[in-house]
Amino acid sequence: MSQAVIELVGAGKTHPSRPPVQALTGIDLRIEAGQMLAVVGPSGSGKTTLLQLMGTLERPTEGSVWICSRNTARLSDRDLSAIRSWQIGFVFQQFFLIDGLSAVENVAHGLLYRGITRPDRQRLALAALDRVGLSQRSDHLPATLSGGERQRVAIARAVVGRPALVLADEPTGNLDSDSGRGIVTLLHDLNQAGISVVVVTHNPDIAAGITRRIELRDGRIIEDTNA
Ligand code: ADP
Ligand code: MG
Repeated sequence: MSQAVIELVGAGKTHPSRPPVQALTGIDLRIEAGQMLAVVGPSGSGKTTLLQLMGTLERPTEGSVWICSRNTARLSDRDLSAIRSWQIGFVFQQFFLIDGLSAVENVAHGLLYRGITRPDRQRLALAALDRVGLSQRSDHLPATLSGGERQRVAIARAVVGRPALVLADEPTGNLDSDSGRGIVTLLHDLNQAGISVVVVTHNPDIAAGITRRIELRDGRIIEDTNA
């Protein structure tokens, strides 16, 4: 059997709000290295919470989350942030670029905690921008870029450190359909290059292009095309 990049075993998450909200229950999910997965389901079904567990941004309140064969429950917060910065790239609906930094500086920022010299960060950031087709925009501030271009910068930032896994939460949610298609093509290209990719999406066209799909409803997986 090939290696799992991530595995959730009986994982659940109750948000410690008042009243507490059980966002996920009994999630068993194994993603092989190099796989691409679409996560679909109505608003409030637990998609973002699932991505937060996969990305170690949140810890499960039940069950366990394994990343590259390591049980995240056994790891300190410091170890988890190291895993995040070395193994995982995040892409969000709202891009989350830093307004005052150029495209290339935003991408280089993704390498800040890696102990890489500034010239090397710059060089790697330019290569990542080239990979997303934006090398000619490297000096632009986010405000001067279109939505689709901003999301390309965010994807370059996610992959500049060569992660094993990219987690994208509604990456086309703020884009028109043409730019959205470009972003989806780019995510497929990254997957072809060997990165495992998880895409949360509301868009049936995007989900239909991805071989493995899981559907969430009320915090549970109700369908897995791999099962
Ligand atoms: P989705 O991304 O599918 O819309 P979420 O994972 O964001 O779903 O939310 C799942 C459920 O958990 C929802 O009922 C939501 O209101 C609740 N929830 C999400 N985050 C929190 C939080 N930080 N505190 C309390 N409840 C939350
Ligand atoms: Mg969400």
